[in-house]
Amino acid sequence: MKLVNLHSHFELPTNQLGLVNHSVLLPFEPKDGQRYSAGLHPWDLDEATDDNWLQMLEVIIQNPQVLAIGECGIDRSLETPIDRQIACFLPHVELAEKYSKPVILHAVRSYSDLLQLKKKQNATTPWILHGYQGNTETTKQLAKYNFCFSIGTALLNDRQKLNQSLAEIPLNQLFFETDESTVNIESIYIFAAEQLNIPLQKLQKQVFDNYQRIFGS
Ligand SMILES: [Zn+2]
Repeated sequence: MKLVNLHSHFELPTNQLGLVNHSVLLPFEPKDGQRYSAGLHPWDLDEATDDNWLQMLEVIIQNPQVLAIGECGIDRSLETPIDRQIACFLPHVELAEKYSKPVILHAVRSYSDLLQLKKKQNATTPWILHGYQGNTETTKQLAKYNFCFSIGTALLNDRQKLNQSLAEIPLNQLFFETDESTVNIESIYIFAAEQLNIPLQKLQKQVFDNYQRIFGS
């Protein structure tokens, strides 16, 4: 069974299953055996000077190797006005609905923004919060509205807050990822299995099943 590494900025080895992040501002050259998500990161909005990126995105996501839209989202640590961030985020949601693809979300201090938007848009495809670090109350709220959660290396820093949040995530809404780090994904699974007090194999199988259910391949 392959190990799911939901979100990475590097190509994944053949024993891992997950999505390599692609920025729509770069040429798309998919590699054999890799799967991708494609979107416009909120950090890159200043580089997207016109709406060409949106047309490009619609072309790219029709490639069968692209299984999700993103990463995209809202980052309140940026100086970019929130209105502009939302204006760039919403077309991702529309494409996700049009092509029935999940959305990989970048969220910094914006969990409540995204929750409001998800309700307002009546989004039907899965929304997956990557690099998740919310507190327990936020986690319960988001879980209720069917968000999925992808947890990365922050877990290894052994912050009690994130460990407590991990325990609140329904197992069928849970993923793990390495994002931009070169940490071995296995070490995240080992740590999480200990925290959750469930056998490592069982956790790996659960996340594998989640991936199959949501991405179908
Ligand atoms: Zn990322």
